[in-house]
Amino acid sequence: MQTLTNRAKVVTNRKLSLKERLYLPAIANGLRITLKHFFGKKATISYPEQQRPFSPVFRGQHVLKRDEEGRERCTACGLCAVACPAEAITIVAEERKPGEEKLYREEKYAAVYEINMLRCIFCGFCEEACPKQAICLTERITLPDYNRAGFIYGKDKLVEPVEADRRIDITKRIRINPGTGAVERKTT
Ligand code: SF4
Ligand code: SF4
Repeated sequence: MQTLTNRAKVVTNRKLSLKERLYLPAIANGLRITLKHFFGKKATISYPEQQRPFSPVFRGQHVLKRDEEGRERCTACGLCAVACPAEAITIVAEERKPGEEKLYREEKYAAVYEINMLRCIFCGFCEEACPKQAICLTERITLPDYNRAGFIYGKDKLVEPVEADRRIDITKRIRINPGTGAVERKTT
């Protein structure tokens, strides 16, 4: 019968040869392949004891950066939320009050900044849209959790520590020119 692709195979009920009826050669051949893979180089690793190095441009968990004086860089402009194709970012803006100049760099800041990690596709668009170099993706992995609420990351998980020695290093992927403020991104 003619088929659309013309790749039909006619099946015959031919008699099995003695070798095929014994099945032992087929079993031996199967064992040979199993042993070859058992002693050969493994494609898998024993995660999490062993970990593969990430690509320098790996996009993992976000960080909200502080400036050199420890102030939050984010000015709650909302551009990252608008750029996010997964609509994963929620921001509530507030005005900086007198005396808070050491906490927030701009006159407006994000009182609430949340990312729904279950929605995020780690595309990096938020990072590219940010005019303040406040949000960056890092090589950290989003940790597993037992309930969905645990994947809503607020400022407590996103803003980096104030202490200089505990800041999140993003220089593998992004470099901010200290003179001009221009952002250089590594893409490969
Ligand atoms: S990485 Fe992409 S999906 Fe995730 S929050 Fe940023 S823009 Fe949205
Ligand atoms: S992270 Fe950047 S783009 Fe997003 S609200 Fe803050 S300043 Fe604006």
